[in-house]
Amino acid sequence: MTTGLAWREDAACLEYPAVLFFGLDDNESAVERRSREDRAKGVCYGCTVRQECLDYALATREPYGIWGGLTEIERRSRLHRASR
Ligand code: SF4
Repeated sequence: MTTGLAWREDAACLEYPAVLFFGLDDNESAVERRSREDRAKGVCYGCTVRQECLDYALATREPYGIWGGLTEIERRSRLHRASR
């Protein structure tokens, strides 16, 4: 598991607004959220540090946002499956 942050220097998301990954708009509808998350995941899939990012988010139990191409719900599900 990765807990350091050096990988962030190569993060593809540095060129995008944080709202794309964290959905800071309280008025976001479910459809808008899904669309935003899909766009964020598209950035992640082309990111060279995707695995490091996902490892970090899983290790630190990041509660919000898209990390490593997964939503918070998808990460919780992965952790739950791994704990069985
Ligand atoms: S995988 Fe996604 S959230 Fe993680 S550093 Fe890359 S672009 Fe950013």
